[in-house]
Amino acid sequence: MRLSYSALNTYQICPLKYKFQYVNKIRTPKSKEAVFGTLIHSTLNFVHKPAILQPSLEQALDHFSKNWNSDVFEDELEERSAFSQGVEIIRRYYKDNDIAKINIVALESPFQIKLGEHIASGIIDRIDRTEDGYEIIDYKTSKKMPTQERIDNDLQLSIYLKAFLDRYPEEKKRLDKIKVSLYFVKHGVKLSSIRTEEQLQKVEDAFLEAIESIEKSSFEPVLNPLCDWCDFQDKCPMQKHKFKEKRKIDTKEINKAIEEYIEAKNDAKSIRTKIAELQKVISEYMDQEGVERVFSDAGIIARTTRQTFSFDEKKLKEILEPLGKWDKVNKVNLVQLKSLLTTLPSPTKKEIENTKRLDRESKSFSVKKK
Ligand code: SF4
Repeated sequence: MRLSYSALNTYQICPLKYKFQYVNKIRTPKSKEAVFGTLIHSTLNFVHKPAILQPSLEQALDHFSKNWNSDVFEDELEERSAFSQGVEIIRRYYKDNDIAKINIVALESPFQIKLGEHIASGIIDRIDRTEDGYEIIDYKTSKKMPTQERIDNDLQLSIYLKAFLDRYPEEKKRLDKIKVSLYFVKHGVKLSSIRTEEQLQKVEDAFLEAIESIEKSSFEPVLNPLCDWCDFQDKCPMQKHKFKEKRKIDTKEINKAIEEYIEAKNDAKSIRTKIAELQKVISEYMDQEGVERVFSDAGIIARTTRQTFSFDEKKLKEILEPLGKWDKVNKVNLVQLKSLLTTLPSPTKKEIENTKRLDRESKSFSVKKK
């Protein structure tokens, strides 16, 4: 399989989105965020293109404005805000960087590397020669910045470093001199890291694990913070009902059922609160009077004490195992297993995953009020 990092990233965010985009290859018009990101990338590429004189800030802004695409914006206000954000990014970039002094090795450099039987591909935004080594940089136009820990374990940067070392194998001896960085241009912040030999060896495993998961996947939708910007909302079972009016289907009956359901859930919640309040009043009365049952014309209320116990597992095992009954009570604690899984090495995790079987499936409703 041939997989780019952006395809892998899409799969990790939502398998169904990956399927729409990379398996079914459904074409969608580029979103305004994507158009904006592409133009920022192309402007920074223009800034660093080899030339006798590097472009001035004015020339960079001129490139940005000449390639601006108004068509993707819904209104003038939105367009103006995006444009000034772009101008601000470029100004800050010039303020924070001495363009003429940056020693560029490669710009927008495509790569393909073999990992196992598969191919990882991508484009590295920029590779610099630094005083004592190299720096591999990927520009990000997103607002959200990850933690340093995420950067230290970021698979994209590790794959880019592998691709770099594939091109410059002699640099493998000087890993500590190669920085990998994500440059968040909206904030003017560059988060950098280096990789150890040991970390690099794990990249192939992580990539192959991801491929295996894709090959076995049933491509379920996973709701995530980026859903509102997803181009496939009208095809996704988690979102397409939002567009029901456009599909010209009769929605009267279902709208009524949704409203009634939400109302009933609200009533149930306030009834539960009311019951808890009354239970407290009655229980206090019972304590005061030393009774466990109270009587009125409406009926009788009785109080019972429920106790929960836990057992000493080791001792219980010693008693039940010789009788051949231990297996009958020793059920796996799924909550504990889930948190244990995050601490186990990959092969063990995989082995445990393979023992998983579906026993029962049920559907439940959750309500998110507008
Ligand atoms: S709308 Fe959200 S859940 Fe649906 S495909 Fe897109 S990203 Fe996945």
